[in-house]
Amino acid sequence: MAVPQRRTSKTRRDKRRTHFKLVLPGMVKCEQCAELKMAHHVCKNCGSYKGRKIVKDQ
Ligand SMILES: [Zn+2]
Repeated sequence: MAVPQRRTSKTRRDKRRTHFKLVLPGMVKCEQCAELKMAHHVCKNCGSYKGRKIVKDQ
C-alpha cells in the first residue's frame, strides 16, 4: 500500500483547505423564500423556479 513519505506540513494542509468553503459555490438565495438553493435548480424549500411555483405544496 502507498504510504506518504513525509507528514503534510501545516502550510500545505491549510492551503488545501482554502478550497473548503462554508457555502458551496453554485449556491444562491431563493428569491421566493430567501433560503440557500442550488443555482439552476428548483428550490428544495418552496418548490419554485424563476419566481414561479413548480412543485405543489408537500
Ligand atoms: Zn425557495
